[in-house]
Amino acid sequence: MGISDTQGALAGGRSYLAIPGPSVVPDRVLSAMHRASPNIYQGALIDMVDTLIPDLKRVARTDAHVAIYMANGHGAWEAAFANTLAPGDTVLALVTGRFGLGWSQMARDMGLEVETIDFGRASPIDPAQVEAALRADKDRKIKAVLATHVDTSTSALSDMPAIRAAMDASGHPALLMADCIASFACDRFEMDAWGVDVIVTGSQKGLMMPPGLGLLFFSEKAAEVRRGLSRVSPYWDWTLRANPEEFYQYFFGTAPTHHLYGMRAALDMIHEEGVEAVWARHDLLARAIWAASDVWSEGGALRMNMANPAHRSRAVTALSLPAPGASDLRFWLEANAGVTLGVGLGMAEPSDPAWHGFFRIGHMGHVNAHMVLGVLASIEAGMSALKMPHGQGALGAAAQVIAEGQAQGV
Ligand SMILES: *Cc1c(COP(=O)(O)O)cnc(C)c1O
Repeated sequence: MGISDTQGALAGGRSYLAIPGPSVVPDRVLSAMHRASPNIYQGALIDMVDTLIPDLKRVARTDAHVAIYMANGHGAWEAAFANTLAPGDTVLALVTGRFGLGWSQMARDMGLEVETIDFGRASPIDPAQVEAALRADKDRKIKAVLATHVDTSTSALSDMPAIRAAMDASGHPALLMADCIASFACDRFEMDAWGVDVIVTGSQKGLMMPPGLGLLFFSEKAAEVRRGLSRVSPYWDWTLRANPEEFYQYFFGTAPTHHLYGMRAALDMIHEEGVEAVWARHDLLARAIWAASDVWSEGGALRMNMANPAHRSRAVTALSLPAPGASDLRFWLEANAGVTLGVGLGMAEPSDPAWHGFFRIGHMGHVNAHMVLGVLASIEAGMSALKMPHGQGALGAAAQVIAEGQAQGV
C-alpha cells in the first residue's frame, strides 16, 4: 500500500524524509542539477569538475587522493576492495551493526578471508580487541582492517583515532579502511590526522545529493598497495580516476553530468558554512534529539539504542519502542505529520514481530533546528495519539539545547 493511500490532512505541505539516507536534497542542489545536458568534451563542465577535487578533499581532511564512481555505497565498498586486495587475502572486519556485516559479507563474496570481531548491536569498536587481534596475527596475514565509522543500523560511532593507535601499538602494517557513508560531513572525521588509508563514502547522506555517486579517498600507502596488485577490474581501478590524463578517465566513460553540478552546489554550501561549523551543527541537533529522547524514556518505553552519548553518531539515532510501537509511530507520523522516519535495520528479521520495535531518525545533511524540533514534536504528538506513555517536557528540553548551543555560537 502506498503512503499516499493513508495520508491525512495534517500531512500536506512539504514532507520531510527523516531517514538515514537518502537525505534531504537542498533546493540549491536541485536547482544546480536542473539544466540542459552540458557538453562533455569541452567547456564549463570540464573546468568545474577539476574544482570538485580539492573541495572534496577539504571535507575529508586529506591531501591524498580521491576517486569518484557512478555507484551507491555498495559500489564504493567494492571499489575499496578491488584496489587493495586479491582473492585469498585476509581482512579483519570490525562489526557494530548491519552495515559492517554487509561490508564483511561482500569481502567474503569477493574471495577474501574474513576474520570478524562482532561488537554486538549497541557498542562501538573496542580498540583493545583490535590490538589483540593484530598482535595475534604473527604471520601478518591481515591486509586490511575494516571499520564502520558510524553504523547506520545501530547509530554506533567508533573512535577512529583510538583504532589507529591500537593498530600502531601492535606494529601491524595493515591498511585502515573506514566506511564513512553515514558519517561523512556529519560526524567529525579527519582522514590524514587520524591515519586512515581508505575512506568509503557516497553522495546521498551528509553530502546532501541524490544517490548515485560513490567516493573513495585513499592514502599514498593504499596507492602503493594498488600498484602491487597484478590485476584490478578496470571499472573500479582508481588510478586514472584519481589522476586522469583525459577528462573521461575521471569516470571511465560518460560523466555523471547532473550529479556533478549538484555536487558543486553541495560543496559550496558545505564550505560556505565551514566543515567545522557543519560538524558543530550536527552535534547540536543530535543533542537536541538525545535530550528529548532522555525525557521521553523517563516516563515510557522509548529507548535510544546507544546508551553512552560518546558512542552516538550525530547523523542518525536508532531507537526502540516495544513492538509494534515503533512501526505504529512511523505510520502515524507519515500519515499525519508528513514526516517519514527510518525503519529499524539489523535488529530483528523483517518477518519477526520484534522488527516492529525499532526505528531510526535520520538527521544528516541539510537539516536545521526547526526540522529537528518539528520531527520531535511530531513524534510526541504520535506517542500521545497512540496513547504511548512517555515523559513530559521533552520538547522543552530539546528547545533548551538549541537555545544554549546557539548562544554558544553554533
Ligand atoms: C547507507 C550506508 C551504506 C550503503 O550505502 P548504499 O548507497 O545504500 O549502497 C553503507 N554503509 C553505511 C554506514 C551506510 O550508512
